[in-house]
Amino acid sequence: MDVQYDVIIIGAGPAGMTAAVYASRAGLKAMMLEPEAPGGKLVKTFEISNWPGMKTVAGVDLAMQMFEHSTEYGCEYNYGRVMRVEVDGNIRKVICDDGNVYTAHAIILATGTVEKKLGLENEERLTGRGISYCAVCDGAFYKEKVVTVIGGGNSALEEALYLTQFASHVRIVIRRDVFRAEPHIQDLVNKHPKIEVITKSIPAAYVEENGKISGIVLTNVDTKEKKTYPTSAVFPYIGSTPATQAVAHLNVTDPEGYLIVNEKMETTVPGVYGAGDVCSKNLRQIVTAVGDGAVAAQMIFHYIQELNH
Ligand SMILES: Cc1cc2nc3c(=O)[nH]c(=O)nc-3n(C[C@H](O)[C@H](O)[C@H](O)COP(=O)(O)OP(=O)(O)OC[C@H]3O[C@@H](n4cnc5c(N)ncnc54)[C@H](O)[C@@H]3O)c2cc1C
Repeated sequence: MDVQYDVIIIGAGPAGMTAAVYASRAGLKAMMLEPEAPGGKLVKTFEISNWPGMKTVAGVDLAMQMFEHSTEYGCEYNYGRVMRVEVDGNIRKVICDDGNVYTAHAIILATGTVEKKLGLENEERLTGRGISYCAVCDGAFYKEKVVTVIGGGNSALEEALYLTQFASHVRIVIRRDVFRAEPHIQDLVNKHPKIEVITKSIPAAYVEENGKISGIVLTNVDTKEKKTYPTSAVFPYIGSTPATQAVAHLNVTDPEGYLIVNEKMETTVPGVYGAGDVCSKNLRQIVTAVGDGAVAAQMIFHYIQELNH
């Protein structure tokens, strides 16, 4: 069987980079494919306070450390956005958007999730012109400006707190009248003098001026009353959807599109594994993503040993 790699790891977030460490240390010929900067969601996170061993660490710093480690034992790193994974006997073919095709005995899908959009008019056009899904990347553009964060989970509240460094005022909009975030993050938000919380409201429209966001219209979910609030930026943190399009035809996803894996990180298709946020699971965090990556790589080591016998 002529293949280029033992394992191709699709996505270089914490799950993929950990799989790279374990696969290459196990002596597998491994390659990571990533269309963005390595690090996945880490590079979009200001500060991480639940990575054991480090009380706090900047997301970009942890991303760089993991990346250096991931290529230390010989795992290749290449640019590539994977569009499709094909199964041909014992060969797994990985097809990228630039036309490159790679082959391996096994693949690990570690593509994470993509932020959900609000679904309002002009959203695509205004992305980068006031709409941002990354406070860490874009927060500094809004010095002394009013900004609006949509969502009440951990990510929304953490990013709202981050934005207070730059913005004059940070408005958080939530659909219910309670947050979903952990209590200690809620406390920080509730005590912060720059943060205003608007409850029981959902975004209805963006207000645009000279091609940029100048406001947001909110609908009160009880009264249905609409009100316009001035804002220079909107940061939606309303959840995410799994990046599983490349394997959608293999029937390995649940109704929400998450990859179904067993405790060995195997899908029902031999040689197709998953790791990290892309999988159907209960806790999507860095520690669980790296655990998945380690298990997937180790199980592939055994899978390939069996193939060779
Ligand atoms: C704002 C924010 C703050 C967070 N804060 C914390 C925190 O404090 N602590 C914590 O534990 N967790 C936190 N998380 C969650 C944590 O970041 C994720 O659980 C973790 O990054 C998941 O790792 P992953 O490798 O599965 O996916 P990701 O980090 O999403 O990485 C997936 C990678 O796959 C790549 N990819 C996607 N599609 C393709 C494709 N078709 N082809 C090739 N590559 C592809 C992406 O570009 C990306 O680099 C936070 C998340 C966000 C959004």
